[in-house]
Amino acid sequence: MISFFSRLIDLIAPRCCAICGCRLSITEQTLCSSCDRHIPRTWYERSPYDNMMNRLYWKQIPIEKTSALFFYNAQAPVSKAIYDLKYHHCSEIGVSLGEIAAREFSHENFFEGIDTIIPVPLTKKRQHTRGYNQSMMIARGISNVTGIKINNNIVRRTLFKESQTHKDVIDRKENVKDAFSIINTKAIANHHILLVDDIVTTGATTIACSQQLMKAEGIKISIVSLGFVKP
Ligand SMILES: [Zn+2]
Repeated sequence: MISFFSRLIDLIAPRCCAICGCRLSITEQTLCSSCDRHIPRTWYERSPYDNMMNRLYWKQIPIEKTSALFFYNAQAPVSKAIYDLKYHHCSEIGVSLGEIAAREFSHENFFEGIDTIIPVPLTKKRQHTRGYNQSMMIARGISNVTGIKINNNIVRRTLFKESQTHKDVIDRKENVKDAFSIINTKAIANHHILLVDDIVTTGATTIACSQQLMKAEGIKISIVSLGFVKP
């Protein structure tokens, strides 16, 4: 049922598709049905323990489940939504895409056994200039759907060097190796953590962050992102 109020809001302030910009119908949320249909989904939630993303972490960290909503590359239409999320103050795109991912992954019971959601943190400075942490927005969307609590006070990002876009794999690892430090190990002892990032490329960032989380006792780590860049 669509309320009178929602219809009224839709008339006064029409909402636009985050990818193509066309006006959304009253039943559409964030993406128009055409863009939604054409997002190149990974479907990794159907084989969460063995997929191309999961293999990035093998021999690096004891990884449980991994999935991403879609395959990402800078030329794909979906990159507009990610760009707006990161650089155009469109934080609500993160929440909505997080909700979409969570609803789809829930069909495969992906979140079963997970205790705590942790978004990959930004440095204080970066978060201040952006106004928010985009991974926190995605985490919020996942939490809205699953009811799993977010804990944002476990790990801190201390370093943020130049953009990683043009760096090779070894450089990326060097770049983020010491970027994180754990603040509180007790609060997550024996928890199964869901680490949330916007885009996973080489896994270097999520590996560095996980290595800090692993300082807590009895920890399990699963990882979710919106986009995954095929190696
Ligand atoms: Zn669209």
